[in-house]
Amino acid sequence: MIKYKLICKSCELSFDSWFASSQEYDKLKKRNFLNCHNCNSNNVIKTLMAPKLMNKSSDKDYLKNLKTNTVGKKIKEYQKFIKDNFKFVGENFAQEARIIHYSDKKKAKGIYGTASKDEITELKEEGINAEIIPWTKDNRN
Ligand SMILES: [Zn+2]
Repeated sequence: MIKYKLICKSCELSFDSWFASSQEYDKLKKRNFLNCHNCNSNNVIKTLMAPKLMNKSSDKDYLKNLKTNTVGKKIKEYQKFIKDNFKFVGENFAQEARIIHYSDKKKAKGIYGTASKDEITELKEEGINAEIIPWTKDNRN
């Protein structure tokens, strides 16, 4: 998803709009599907950021922060999904993964927990899929 600030050239209204991608914006623009919700004009354009006006180091910091925030947020979402759908088995991950692998998989709930690199390697050798995912500790609690 990408957010653009759009401006209506007819009535000068500016508003934010979300697009799946910059390509989607271009497509909608070409087909005249973008219109101003104030005056209904098709004369709506995307305002351009002016990166040249930013000084280089702050530009870099900005991008770095943006990246960190996005990744951090993704991990948090992922963690929430896992917590909601998987069973936490802590240090017993490798053991529990084997139990699931060698029993009826359809009944088994997914699990998550901690495992050492060696354990993961062993599981892989046995044909058990385990994904290593980044995990951030929530320090707010
Ligand atoms: Zn307008």
